[in-house]
Amino acid sequence: EEILIDVRNLKKYFPIHKGLLSRVVGQVKAVDDVSLTIKKGETFGLVGESGCGKSTLGRVILRLQGATEGEVLFNGRDIHEMSGKDLRELREEMQIIFQDPFGSLNPRFLVKDIIGEPLRVHRNMSGKEIDERVVELMEMVGLDASRRNRYPHEFSGGQRQRIGIARAIALHPQFIVADEAVSALDVSVQSQVINLLMKLQKELGLTFLFIAHGLNVVRHISDRVGVMYLGKMVEVGETETLFAAPLHPYTAALLSAIPKPTPGRRQERIVLQGDVPSPANPPSGCRFHTRCPLAQAKCSQVEPLLEEIMPGRQAACHFPLVKGDS
Ligand code: SF4
Ligand code: MG
Repeated sequence: EEILIDVRNLKKYFPIHKGLLSRVVGQVKAVDDVSLTIKKGETFGLVGESGCGKSTLGRVILRLQGATEGEVLFNGRDIHEMSGKDLRELREEMQIIFQDPFGSLNPRFLVKDIIGEPLRVHRNMSGKEIDERVVELMEMVGLDASRRNRYPHEFSGGQRQRIGIARAIALHPQFIVADEAVSALDVSVQSQVINLLMKLQKELGLTFLFIAHGLNVVRHISDRVGVMYLGKMVEVGETETLFAAPLHPYTAALLSAIPKPTPGRRQERIVLQGDVPSPANPPSGCRFHTRCPLAQAKCSQVEPLLEEIMPGRQAACHFPLVKGDS
C-alpha cells in the first residue's frame, strides 16, 4: 500500500516563559520523537487524554505549526521544507475539521459563504459557479441546500459539523485531520457524522487522521489506532486487534474504561491511578511509570522505545501484555 503521510522522529517543543522579561525557564515537550505512517485511503485514529500532544501532532502534520525537529513527508516530500506554489498547493490537499463548529464557523457569514470561502480564495470561480458547487457540497454532506442563505446558529450541532465537513472537502483534498470533530456531539449524532465521514472517504478516496480522547469514538471509523501519552506514541495497531488484546498497560487502562458489550469475556481491569504528570516535567524512564500498575524498577530508569512486538503491532513498554501473560 502507498504511504501518504510519513512522520519521522517529529518533535514539537514549546518554551515556557516566566517573569517580566519573559525568560525561557523550560520547555513543554508536547510531541517528543513521534514516528508514524498513514496509508492512502486509511483512517488512523489517534487517542489519548487531553494534553498528551495529539492535537499538536495533528497541527504539525498539517504545518499549521512548525516542527522543532524531524520530518513530515506528504507523498514523499517534506512539507516543512515547502514554500511558494508548492505550499499553496499543499494547503488545498490538507484540511482540518475542528471540534467546535460554533467556534470555527464565522457567525456573521452565511453558510454558503462559509462553505464557498475556500473556493473563492483558491479557485478563480464566479459567484454562480461557487453557488452551484456549494449546493453540490451541501447535498454531499446531507444538508438541505435551500438553507444556504442562513447563518450557522440556525443549524443544530450535528448540522454545523456537516457545514465544517462540506467546507473541508470543497477543494478535493487528499487528507483531512478531524480533531475531536464529533466529541461535542450526542452519541447518536456522533455516529451519524462518523458514518458521513466514512461515506465521503469511499466516494472521494480521502485519508483521515481522526483524533479523539476516547477509544470508543475511534473504533468504528479507524483502520489503525495510535495511543499517545505525554508526548509519546505508546502503542500502534490494527483497530480490532488492539481492542481485543492491548499490548500497552495504558491502552488496557483506556479500554477498561469502556463498558464492554460482551459480558463473560474475561479481561483484566487496569485502573489508572493519579493524574497525568505535567508534560513540562515528565517522569524519567517510561513516562507512564508513575501511574502504571505493572511498573518495575527498570521502568523508572530506562525509556522503552516503540517497537514491533508482533507483526503489525507496536508498543513502547518493557513488559507488554502479550497474550498468555497474566
Ligand atoms: Fe508500565 Fe513499565 Fe511498561 Fe511503562 S514500561 S508501561 S511502567 S510496565
Ligand atoms: Mg486537543
